[in-house]
Amino acid sequence: MTASSQSVEPFDLVIFGGTGDLAVRKLLPALFHRFLDGQIPASSRIVGIAREALDDAGYRASLREALVGICDAAKLDVFLQQVFYRPLDARKDEGWDDFAAFIGAQPEHVRVFYLSTSPELFVDICGRLGHYGLNQGKSRVVLEKPIGRDLDSANQINDAVGKVFSESQTFRIDHYLGKETVQNLLVLRFGNALFEPLWNSAHIDHVQITVAETLGVGHRGAYYDRAGALRDMVQNHMLQLLCMVAMEPPSSLAPDAVRDEKLKVLHSLKPIDESNVAQLTVRGQYRAGVAEGASVPGYPDELGNTKSNTETFVALKAEIANWRWAGVPFYLRTGKRLPDRVSEIVVTFKPVPHSIFNPDAGTLSQNRLVLRLQPDEGVKLWLTIKHPGPGGLRLRHVPLDMSFAEAFGVQQPDAYERLLLDVVRGNPTLFMRRDEVEAAWRWAGPILAAWSASGEAPRPYAAGSWGPSAAVALIERDGRTWNEDSE
Ligand code: NAP
Repeated sequence: MTASSQSVEPFDLVIFGGTGDLAVRKLLPALFHRFLDGQIPASSRIVGIAREALDDAGYRASLREALVGICDAAKLDVFLQQVFYRPLDARKDEGWDDFAAFIGAQPEHVRVFYLSTSPELFVDICGRLGHYGLNQGKSRVVLEKPIGRDLDSANQINDAVGKVFSESQTFRIDHYLGKETVQNLLVLRFGNALFEPLWNSAHIDHVQITVAETLGVGHRGAYYDRAGALRDMVQNHMLQLLCMVAMEPPSSLAPDAVRDEKLKVLHSLKPIDESNVAQLTVRGQYRAGVAEGASVPGYPDELGNTKSNTETFVALKAEIANWRWAGVPFYLRTGKRLPDRVSEIVVTFKPVPHSIFNPDAGTLSQNRLVLRLQPDEGVKLWLTIKHPGPGGLRLRHVPLDMSFAEAFGVQQPDAYERLLLDVVRGNPTLFMRRDEVEAAWRWAGPILAAWSASGEAPRPYAAGSWGPSAAVALIERDGRTWNEDSE
C-alpha cells in the first residue's frame, strides 16, 4: 500500500453491464489495481450483471483473460474470489428476487450500483432497484455518460433516477475529472500564489482545449452515429475541463463549493445559436486516409457504406461573459482519426507589452501553460530565456517540463481508480451534479438545433489530418494558431 492509499470501508459494487467493453477494459482493471494497492477490503464484493448466461466461474475466467497481463496470476486469483456474476435482464423481473437475496439486507454496508449500460436502461434498472428494495442505507448509483441526448431526455433520466435515489446518492461520472492533471489544475491554480493574479482577461490571451483521438468509430458506430462529437465529447468532458480552468476559487473542496463554481461558468457561456453558429463552429467528418501508418476507411464506410450527417470533428470558439473572462476566447477542438491521441489544455498568456531586444535576437513568444491529460500526463510552462553561451544575445522558448510519471517515478493511476473509490467514500466532488448536466445541455442544445436547421453536411477531412481547413481558419481569423508544442 502506498502512503496515499488507505483502505476504504467494505462495499458491494454491482456493475450493470459487467460483461461490456467499459467494465472489462476499464472498471475491473481499475478495481484490480486498487486491490493490488491494498485498498479493497477482503469482505467487499464486486458483482457483474448482464443478460449473458454465465456463472461466477465463467465470469471469472473471462476476466482472467482481460487482467492476466497486469500482475502475477496468484494475486489475480485472490482478487477474482471477490468477484461474482448474476445474469439479469434489466427489462424483466425474472431473477431479481434472487439477486436481492444475494445482496442481502445490510443497511450499514456501502453498496454501489454502477450503470455501465446504454442509458436507455437506466430507468428500468433504477425502477427495479427501488422495487426490489435494494436502495438501502449507504447505497449509491453511478451513471455513465451520455446522460441523454438533449435536455429533455436528460431530464427524463434524471427524474426517473431521482424517484429512487436522492441527488446526494447519484454520482454522474465524467472520467476526465478523475485524471491526475485535472486535479492538478485545481492544485496549480489554488495551491500556488503565482497563477491566480494572472488568471484573467488582463493577462490571458486565450485558452485551447483539444481532445484528439487517432481511432475511428470502429464497432461503436451504432452508438456514435446517434451522438456525434458535440454530444460525445463537448457537452460533457470538454465543458467540464473548461469549467475547471475558468471557475472562480471555491471556498473549499467541499463537493457543492466546487460544483457551484462550475455551474456559474456554464451559466455564463455566451449562447451559440442560428445567429452565430456559422462563425463560431466547424463540424467535420473523416474520409479515408492514413492513420498511424496504415490506410483506413472513411466514416461512411465504417458505418457500412451509409451516408450520415453526424460530425466526427468539432472545433468551436466559446466565450464566457463575466468580468474575469470577457474577451478571452476558449477554442475547443475534438475529433476522431486525427494525427495524434492527445488531450490537453493550453493557456496562452498575453505578449509582453514592449520588446527591449534587437530583432536579430529572435522572436518573443507568448508564455503558455500546457496541461497534458493524455497520453503522458504532465504540465509544461513555456518561458523565454537566453540561449546559453558567450555569443550574441539570442532568445529561446523552452518548457519547464514536468511529466508526472518521470517526476514521481510511478505509473499514473487511471481516472477510474480514483473515481470508483470516491463513490465508495461517498465523495461527489469530482462528479457532475444534475444542474450542471442541465446547464451544459442548455448551451449545447441550440448548437445542435442550429446545425440541424442549416441543413449543411459536416465538412469532410482526410483521416490522419487535423480536421477540415475551416477549423484552422476559425482560430487563424483571430490571429492565433492551434498549439503544436514543437517549439
Ligand atoms: P457495451 O460493450 O455494449 O456493453 C453493454 C453491457 O450492457 C453488456 O454487458 C451487455 O451484456 C449489458 N446489457 C445490455 N442489455 C442489457 C439488459 N437488458 N439487461 C442487463 N444488461 C444488459 O457498452 P460499453 O461500451 O461497455 O458502454 C457502457 C456504457 O458506458 C454506455 O453508456 C457508454 O456510452 C458508456 N461509456 C463507455 C465507454 C467505453 O470506453 N466503452 C466510455 C465512456 C462511457 P448482455 O448483452 O449480455 O446483456
